[in-house]
Amino acid sequence: MSPQLLTSVVTGGAGFLGSHLTDRLLSEGHRVIAIDNLATGNASNIEHLANNRNFEFVYHDVTGCILLPDHVDFVWHFASPASPVDYLELPIPTLKVGAFGTYNALGLAKKKRAAFLLASTSECYGDPLVHPQNEDYWGNVNPIGPRGVYDESKRFAEAMTMAYHRHYQMDTKIVRIFNTYGPRMRLKDGRVVPTFIDQVLNGNPFTIFGDGSQTRSFCYVTDLIEGIYRLMASDYHQPVNIGNPSEMSILQFVREITRLTEKPSRIEFCPLPEDDPKMRRPDISRARKILGWEPKVSLEEGMQVTIDFFRTKI
Ligand code: NAD
Ligand code: UDP
Repeated sequence: MSPQLLTSVVTGGAGFLGSHLTDRLLSEGHRVIAIDNLATGNASNIEHLANNRNFEFVYHDVTGCILLPDHVDFVWHFASPASPVDYLELPIPTLKVGAFGTYNALGLAKKKRAAFLLASTSECYGDPLVHPQNEDYWGNVNPIGPRGVYDESKRFAEAMTMAYHRHYQMDTKIVRIFNTYGPRMRLKDGRVVPTFIDQVLNGNPFTIFGDGSQTRSFCYVTDLIEGIYRLMASDYHQPVNIGNPSEMSILQFVREITRLTEKPSRIEFCPLPEDDPKMRRPDISRARKILGWEPKVSLEEGMQVTIDFFRTKI
């Protein structure tokens, strides 16, 4: 192994975002150690890297101590269930990975004198009372509701990251990721993009929760990874929103998928899950200013690639 290569550790490296980040880092000439317990990820996301000598996979639950003999330059902490269906099924592991997992990942970065980036979330804003959401907004989170296991684990992870930055002068970054989609999401992970694509391709009705007036803003995965890569390269330590500010209601999203697939499907209205945020759109002024970043991929382009990916899985 060439000693001059920059070495990145990606926790959650077999997940949707972690595997795309791993690909990007390898293409930038990094050596990558992906750590994952496959709780919600998939080994198939990284199987194309099996013969890449700059890539190593470590099967490990990061709520346990992370011991690596290697030199490490960057720790990218992505391990955590991310789909509401997943974290509602895994409430305690979700809290544990946000707390102990973040503690261990920060501990690794501290020991190795590595830079650290936390994959946080727009869920820190909860069901927001400020719209669009900027990073100065403290959020409207129900700590004891079902989604609280995820929201509070990430808010705690942010608090711990800032404490390590202030107390140990560590080089830390926090990205608040807004709904991101693309190839390698699990078809059945429950999130709205794979769920609706699965439903339309199989001729099943769209399951709209509530009346479909709630809004989301969907970002394509390559745009997100570019923003995150730039954030790690920056010397900025406060949270930064990365997402696509193009907002639509879930009903509009159904119309868009119907148009792109040319397959009209029935709509089945289902109960709205508790604490489901009514609106979400990132204010990306900070990312524009600090990182010179903004999304480039339109929903139409990104969804075409994603739909084509899922066609091969059905
Ligand atoms: P994902 O479920 O595809 O990936 C998460 C990965 O973490 C999986 O491979 C899983 O097996 C792994 N993992 C979970 N617990 C672990 C543990 N204890 N030890 C080791 N590995 C563990 O989800 P994703 O969409 O790729 O999300 C990745 C990160 O980005 C998460 O931290 C998530 O909170 C954050 N995020 C994602 C989005 C999005 O829209 N995709 C939005 C906001 C935040
Ligand atoms: N949603 C829906 N039908 C589904 C899955 C999700 O109407 O089958 C809605 C969900 O209630 C939410 C939005 O789509 O308002 C986005 O849900 P997702 O699970 O993708 O992520 P969230 O943004 O809620 O974390």
